[in-house]
This record gives sequence, structure tokens and C-alpha cells, in this order.
Amino acid sequence: MSNLLSTLSANLAAVRDRIAAAADRSNRDPDEVVLVAVTKYAELDWVRGLIDLGVTQLGESRPQQLVSRSESLAGPVTWHLIGHLQRNKVRPVLPVATLIHSVDSFRLLDRIETIAEELGVAPRVLLEVNVTREESKNGFVPSDLLGHSDRLTGYRHLVVDGLMTMAPRVDDPELARPAFASLRQLRETLAAATGPNVPLGELSMGMSGDFEIAVEEGATLVRIGSGLFAGLASDEARP
Ligand SMILES: *Cc1c(COP(=O)(O)O)cnc(C)c1O
Repeated sequence: MSNLLSTLSANLAAVRDRIAAAADRSNRDPDEVVLVAVTKYAELDWVRGLIDLGVTQLGESRPQQLVSRSESLAGPVTWHLIGHLQRNKVRPVLPVATLIHSVDSFRLLDRIETIAEELGVAPRVLLEVNVTREESKNGFVPSDLLGHSDRLTGYRHLVVDGLMTMAPRVDDPELARPAFASLRQLRETLAAATGPNVPLGELSMGMSGDFEIAVEEGATLVRIGSGLFAGLASDEARP
């Protein structure tokens, strides 16, 4: 095995072990937790390495990079868009992204619905929630969603499959727990208000620094980038 593949393989095994241990601690089935490998800072070779090692769920934060990488990387890959989506980028993204984690406004939902109808597709989306109401963050504030939950029941093409959040960046991952717990509670409240037309089954939460806490709090998708690429130096960074 090349150095690249052995480093990736060790990182991947460590992350999977930690997901499994966190699931175990909270009496969950580790298979309920999908690892989305976030490749936004990864070189193409590294991404190919992950695919060779059997990773099928890849996340990109920039729509353009998602589209171009989906064209250059053949193979059984499912693409997740995890970063901000502008309304004018919806059309190229919809045919490629299996799940959009970062839908942060009703205007964007409406736009996705319109383009989905035109293209004859049924995109799955998650609503990004700014649970901690940080000024610098995108996302719905919880009261916005709860106050307008009826708007979520009217879509016929897109499927609102769950919620996503980014916890505040903190040194101690334990401090992220309340944000994850809030997202889970919001999901329950929202699901009760919207009924079966809005599945809301997924909770996308947890990154390299805090994914174990997120799994303990019910994450079904964890988005992990830097933790998978530890020990690899990009060409640009080399002297
Ligand atoms: C970059 C990114 C991640 C992954 O972050 P790491 O700390 O590298 O694991 C997860 N989610 C979103 C929305 C991101 O932009």
C-alpha cells in the first residue's frame, strides 16, 4: 500500500472506531450513522484514495467544486453539498447532489422546488439551523421554522429530510453538546407540527472536533474533513 493509502486507511479506521464507540455509549446502532467525508481541502488524489478504500459519501462546501469533482471522479460516489448555496447555483447542483445539507432560507427552498419541478427530480434537503443564534452563521433560527412550519408541508418535489447544524467552535467538544441536543429537540417539535409529509429523519451534526458528542446526541450524518486527512501535506504547502 502506498503511504497515502496507508495514512488514509489508518485515519478512516480511527474515525470509524470512534463513531462506533460513541454509538455504543448511547445505545445506538453504529450503522445509523453515515460518515460523510468532507473533501473541500483535499487534493484529488486523496479523494481518489478514499474512494479506493470504499468511501462512497463525499461532501463539498462549494457548489462549483462539487460539480467539477463529480465530473472528474468516476465511481459509486454520492455527493453531499454542505456549504452555502446561492439561488443562482441551484440548477447545476440539483442533478449532482444527492443531499443538500445547507438550505438556510424559505426563498432558497422555493427556488429548489421550482428547479426540481423543471428538471423532474426529487432532491433531498436538510434545513440548516443556527441553534445558537451566532451572528456570523447562516441558517434558520428555530423560531422562524416553528413559526412557519406550514410552509414546509407544501412542497411536492423537494423532500425535507432533516436538520443540520454547525456547533460553535470550542476547545472542549463537551461544550457543543447543548447545540446538538437543541437540534434534536427542534426536530421532534417540528416533526410533530408538520406530520408525515415532511420526513425530518436526518440529523446532520458533528465535525472532526466534536463528532463523538454529536453521535451521542443522535446524529445520523457526521461531516468529517480534517480528521481524515491528518498527516497528509498538500503539494502547495510543501516548500
Ligand atoms: C469543512 C466543513 C466540515 C468539516 O470540518 P472538519 O473540521 O475539517 O472536519 C463539516 N461541515 C461543514 C459545513 C464544513 O464546511
